[in-house]
Amino acid sequence: MLESLSRAILPITTSINQLEHLTLGGCDTVDLATEFGTPLYIFDEKTLRHSCREFRAEFQGRYPASSIAYASKAYLGRALAALLAEEGMDLDVVSGGELSIAISVGFPPERIHFHGNNKSEEELAQALDYGVGRIVVDNFREIKLLSKVATALNTDQKVLLRLTPGVDPRTHVYTSTGITDSKFGFPMLDGQAESALQKTIDAPNLEPMGLHIHLGSPIFSVEPYRRGIKVAMEFASKMRKEHGFQLLDFSPGGGFAVQYLEAQEAPAIAQYADAIVSSINESVEMYMLPAPHVIIEPGRSIAARAGVALYRVGASKEIPGVRRYVSVDGGMADNIRPALYKAEYAAVLANRANDTRRELVTIAGKYCESGDLLLRDAELPPLSPGDLVAVPSSGAYCLPMASNYNGALKPPIVMVNDGEATLVRRGESYEDLIRHDVYPPE
Ligand code: PLP
Repeated sequence: MLESLSRAILPITTSINQLEHLTLGGCDTVDLATEFGTPLYIFDEKTLRHSCREFRAEFQGRYPASSIAYASKAYLGRALAALLAEEGMDLDVVSGGELSIAISVGFPPERIHFHGNNKSEEELAQALDYGVGRIVVDNFREIKLLSKVATALNTDQKVLLRLTPGVDPRTHVYTSTGITDSKFGFPMLDGQAESALQKTIDAPNLEPMGLHIHLGSPIFSVEPYRRGIKVAMEFASKMRKEHGFQLLDFSPGGGFAVQYLEAQEAPAIAQYADAIVSSINESVEMYMLPAPHVIIEPGRSIAARAGVALYRVGASKEIPGVRRYVSVDGGMADNIRPALYKAEYAAVLANRANDTRRELVTIAGKYCESGDLLLRDAELPPLSPGDLVAVPSSGAYCLPMASNYNGALKPPIVMVNDGEATLVRRGESYEDLIRHDVYPPE
């Protein structure tokens, strides 16, 4: 029953129809599976728009000089990029690929921020050519490279400097980025951050606009943000005194947690906004800094809840006294998170959504790795071949990390709204699998 599963992890339009099927955006998920096949990723347009508006309202309501930049790495497709542009969002990209998706739908380049720890010269030239708003400079090589590219193109580029503030966000080590031992940003050790700032100020054709930190993801407490902001603001104040640096822009990054399981609560966006805005205001007052423009970078917290993955049940295996495995037709090729960092999910039986019976089951993916388990020890109604298992909170960091492992076809994606389902990405075909192979060799 939906009542027993916190509604916070399903799209806001979720319901159950008279056939006892799960519906999303007014669309019957059983019909969607029949029409588009499984595995299928379903995005609910209302939930996406609702999250964008909630972020804008909570932050801009407290701090008008702020913008919300969606972190494309959570998931980006052309339909989503167009929706984000309509919703007045900025966009954070980390590659020429994400940038080109955004540009292909006319996303305003001045609202794009380009991140990444190893941007190539070609990517930087592409970004400057499009006229992206900010480049977030990550290392010493990039300062030189970007300055060279900007000079060659005879343009000035606005940049933010990414600092590694040495704050532990207490999340998985693979997704901790603000600790000193991180591949991202300039550490606050050995005067590295200061030297980077000085070099950026001196570099021809670079305009240092401000500072950026991103601590990690997901962060279930507001405290790391407070600490990170304090470190960055103290640095800004010191740099103003010593180098005349003006902090015009400041980004405390993204990393806002979402709920994946019933028994796991994430702070509300309003709580993050309260903590971030009050910390910035306190520092601005304490160091007598002009109030900067603030850029907030949510990815997961916009996309996760809007997306639901739908799988069809196939084989099962009972090991008496040990475990019951039920296999579905997707797994680590479309969602590697459980295998990669033990991410946990809940599940709903989409075709008998009111079935209250429960048994302990492990939902296995179909790929050739023992670690390809989507859910361990889930409590679900008894499952039979043909049943449809819906996995909520699948909108972030699943599809962008999808692979063709075992020759898997990347799944189709539909956007649902007001009873209509629009295919926004075709599922791959076997033709797609061999399209880029060169055979016989030329
Ligand atoms: N900003 C930066 C620089 C990031 O590296 C990331 C994620 O890795 C994000 C924002 C988005 O994080 P999340 O999707 O958890 O909000």
